[in-house]
Amino acid sequence: MKIEVANHSGFCFGVKRAIKIVEQTLKKEQNIYCLGPIIHNPQVVKNLMSRGLKIIKDLSIIKEGILVIPAHGLEPKLIKKATKKGLKIIDATCPLVKKVQKHAEQLKKDKYHIIIIGDKNHAETKGIVGFCGTNFQVVENKSGIDIKRLQKEKKIGIVSQTTQSIWNLREISMTVLLLSNELRIYNTICETTIRKQNAAKKLAKRSDVMIVIGGYNSANTKRLVEVSKETGVKTYHIETAQDINFIWLKDKTKIGISAGASTSPETIKEVEFLIFN
Ligand code: SF4
Repeated sequence: MKIEVANHSGFCFGVKRAIKIVEQTLKKEQNIYCLGPIIHNPQVVKNLMSRGLKIIKDLSIIKEGILVIPAHGLEPKLIKKATKKGLKIIDATCPLVKKVQKHAEQLKKDKYHIIIIGDKNHAETKGIVGFCGTNFQVVENKSGIDIKRLQKEKKIGIVSQTTQSIWNLREISMTVLLLSNELRIYNTICETTIRKQNAAKKLAKRSDVMIVIGGYNSANTKRLVEVSKETGVKTYHIETAQDINFIWLKDKTKIGISAGASTSPETIKEVEFLIFN
């Protein structure tokens, strides 16, 4: 049996940075809160919580302390609300997510109708929406474009959630191009995401089965699963080594592994070890 891990699997720099910011803050301070998970990996979040980080769903339950902004960002109105309450803000937003927010803000200032390519319910998308004002639409795929609305607009701008697939961005941009007078496109998919997707795709093509490791709530992991499935190879999404079902691997000789941006190197090693033994 051959087990191969795709290049660029596991933690990206934005996730490493966010974890480091929380760890450093935990060493010096108390009452540290994060609105939603700091990154989309329940195991890593659990570990940080055991060291003192508190994950909250609503700002109203805290009166004082520190609010850490998660790696995938936050809506500006929530940051304002926290500042008004007197909370100290520590920003762990990935700089690449910030870049999307800035482009969205600029498009709003320049009076463009903004198309955000992203998962409607994902925290990063909700954060970006917060910078767009009222003239925007969130589009998950080509069929989700509100064409009637676009036909009323003169200037259209496109930004993308950082973890979207480049193929989805290309398809939506091509459709919008044919419907618009003036189109400004920002390719805001992060470089790490593109490298991960390409590596997963290549590995899937030479594997009998693919195991993709990452949080079930992780957008970039879900994209890796999609990209791998598109090659026609059987692909399974797991969060930890305990999720492996060995029936999937029966009679398979080439096993490929890919891992999302929030998956730790230890989790990847555990999966490799369990399959091998
Ligand atoms: S996947 Fe890209 S945008 Fe998201 S946290 Fe990592 S480096 Fe930043």
